[in-house]
Amino acid sequence: MKPYSLPDSQGHFGPYGGSFVAETLAYALDELRDAYDACRADPQFRAEFEYELKHFVGRPSPVYHAKRWSEKLGGAQIWFKREDLNHTGAHKVNNCIGQILLARRMGKPRIIAETGAGQHGVATATVAARYGLECVVYMGSEDVRRQASNVYRMKLLGATVVPVESGTRTLKDALNEALRDWVTNVENTFYLIGTVAGPHPYPMMVRDFQSVIGDECLQQMPESAGRQPDYVVASVGGGSNAMGIFYPYIQHEAVRLVGVEAAGEGLATGRHAASLNAGVVGVLHGNRTYLLQDENGQIMGTHSISAGLDYPGVGPEHAWLKDSGRAQYDSVTDSEALAAFHDCCRTEGIMPALESSHAIAYAVRLAPTLGKDKIILVNLSGRGDKDMHTVAEFSGITL
Ligand SMILES: *Cc1c(COP(=O)(O)O)cnc(C)c1O
Repeated sequence: MKPYSLPDSQGHFGPYGGSFVAETLAYALDELRDAYDACRADPQFRAEFEYELKHFVGRPSPVYHAKRWSEKLGGAQIWFKREDLNHTGAHKVNNCIGQILLARRMGKPRIIAETGAGQHGVATATVAARYGLECVVYMGSEDVRRQASNVYRMKLLGATVVPVESGTRTLKDALNEALRDWVTNVENTFYLIGTVAGPHPYPMMVRDFQSVIGDECLQQMPESAGRQPDYVVASVGGGSNAMGIFYPYIQHEAVRLVGVEAAGEGLATGRHAASLNAGVVGVLHGNRTYLLQDENGQIMGTHSISAGLDYPGVGPEHAWLKDSGRAQYDSVTDSEALAAFHDCCRTEGIMPALESSHAIAYAVRLAPTLGKDKIILVNLSGRGDKDMHTVAEFSGITL
């Protein structure tokens, strides 16, 4: 296999990625790319990033052998990478730390972000508070209504939440509004994107910041499990927790990489969020990738029990990894994810996020088909306390 060195200088992963933006934003993106290139080569930036990950986030997160569950399933050994133990409860904060340090280097005092379920908004508000920067979060007014507790959390952290009333009043409308803000306030504003999507250099930059997950695994698995895993499995919404754990393993050809999308109520029902499994190629959020859109190019409504997987696109690097065959992408339904959620609570004493439960459900499906000497490493991207109400509702329980 040739050395892996994607994206190219224009942000292309094969035919995917790139930068599809208005002229005014092209300037801002050039500035961002130059600043990021400089930081990447600066050992002091790296040291500051690592210091924050250790002392603010609580890294390294451990790898954990789900021993009882593996024994019960009678096949491969399942291991978890415990991103649920990070400050704020998920992997998203890794990337937010990286980008806020970059914003400071660039002298931008104002941070904007968009959020759907509110998790990226909370992670952004958290790091903005940590550095005393102004924070404005765009959120569809429908999402503001549905995610009241995350809205309150952002406000407690000092952020301004702006409800977006256009379109379907959800994530993609918030995205458009955040881009509009950036065009207007480019001088003093940094746009903090939460996943490996958006125009170049975001997919590359977010991947690099999240790669701390896989870098740690490369070191931890030989120490704890005696060797590298046979499979690395992660859930895919926009794709940042998956890219973070996949990227350092791409060159390890013997390790199979599996991304798991949300099949919602089933791929055949159309009520899902599986862009790679059931989408078409198009342009969204400034990059070319697989999307869920209709014949007229309209972005389709998506569905997943897990709010964090409910995104109509996917990062362009995943589109490339799929086409090249280096990674494979499968899907898991709402009810399979819920079953894995309950089993994980009872068997391992760990309450996983519903997003992570999709990756776990896939591992549970795979493990019995493999020998006991095989190892499946699952990225447990976040904790599930935030999902208790959703799970209760599905079980017909009112809290
Ligand atoms: C947001 C989120 C995801 C999905 O986002 P990716 O960018 O695909 O990682 C997965 N797990 C958790 C816990 C999340 O909060």
